[in-house]
Amino acid sequence: MLVCGAVFDGISEELGGPAEILVRDGLISEIAHSVNRPDGAEVIDLSERTVTPGFIDTHVHLTMDAATLAAQTLESTATKALKGLSLAREYLSYGFTTLRDLGSMDPEFPTVDLRNALDAGLVQGPRLLVAAHIISSSAGHGDLRGFYASRWDLPVSAIADSTGEIRRLVRREHAYGSDWIKTANAGGYFSTGDDPARPTWFDDEMDALCSTARLLGMPVAVHTGAAQACKQAVRYGARSLEHAYLIDEEGIDMATRGGAYIVPTMQMTQEDLSELQAGTLPCQAVWKFSRDNQEILHSQRLITSSDAKVAFGTDCGMFPFSHGIREFQAMVDAGLSPVRALKAGTSVAAELLGRDDIGVLEPGACADIVAMPGNPVDDIAATAQVDFVMRAGAVHRRPDDERRSP
Ligand SMILES: [Zn+2]
Repeated sequence: MLVCGAVFDGISEELGGPAEILVRDGLISEIAHSVNRPDGAEVIDLSERTVTPGFIDTHVHLTMDAATLAAQTLESTATKALKGLSLAREYLSYGFTTLRDLGSMDPEFPTVDLRNALDAGLVQGPRLLVAAHIISSSAGHGDLRGFYASRWDLPVSAIADSTGEIRRLVRREHAYGSDWIKTANAGGYFSTGDDPARPTWFDDEMDALCSTARLLGMPVAVHTGAAQACKQAVRYGARSLEHAYLIDEEGIDMATRGGAYIVPTMQMTQEDLSELQAGTLPCQAVWKFSRDNQEILHSQRLITSSDAKVAFGTDCGMFPFSHGIREFQAMVDAGLSPVRALKAGTSVAAELLGRDDIGVLEPGACADIVAMPGNPVDDIAATAQVDFVMRAGAVHRRPDDERRSP
């Protein structure tokens, strides 16, 4: 049983509490000003803290490390999965109880193996949903060949250039256990040989990908950039637009009306800006990011001033997991209210993932619960001070544990 000072339930516009939460068999069984204390129940005192649903990061890469991308190619699939587990557990300690992994660059399926091990309880960590690979055109964002000399034809990319091949790749993801289909319909900043300001799928290719995913009952997450590409993603039924770097008002409006979620990865833009200033941004990113950075910030402000469904996602893996929690602050700096940022990382992210059992504190929901000193509605920076983490009723961190500094 948890004794809570204040409570953000994932849905309300303001904090409630004080309250007590009774957890039984991994679920919240009761939440009220005062609950019946069963004999022998452990009582955890969070009366000096604000309690919220566990955070959900809908865009991470547990098995991709941008800092060592080329060297990682030499690692085994098992090594990537084990390193990914270590990162997932570290990330859990910041309060992230559910992650959506949006792609590895491995010929096998390390994130699927990791998810299965977590689901089976073989290892402890956050809940994981995965899109195993990034399906892309040749010379698209998912084509990693540009990182290597042309004599190395490495099987690290899921690329296709015909509708039949695209369908085959989507079906392959399904066959080996992906929950989501991830694609890129525009270039990226860190990738080589592409441009975020240009679409990379023709309409019939995007249609082949999305309709095959729909046939198989799989939602589609689209790495996107150019305003035209953002609109293409919405037109063909993407469930989430990742980054949406250069989205315009019309695209935001289409996403809002079409029910697509936007995952604007705003902390990553801040990371890239500081790397640009420090002169440490990789050369393939410099010309693109120098050209576009003000436009990206402009698009982010358009997103935050709209009614779009904004979900929390970071792209951690492209930058350190220890910085992922800063996305809350980046969202507020870009114009989102703290409550909307908190919802983005809880109930709205859960809705994007199609999960009504997480992202909220209510009877029957999973007991994914975090707590922090301070009041995140007054000051979103409190989210970086999480010192209590429970996932499905199991306590992973307590206030008196050694403190991690994000
Ligand atoms: Zn990503």
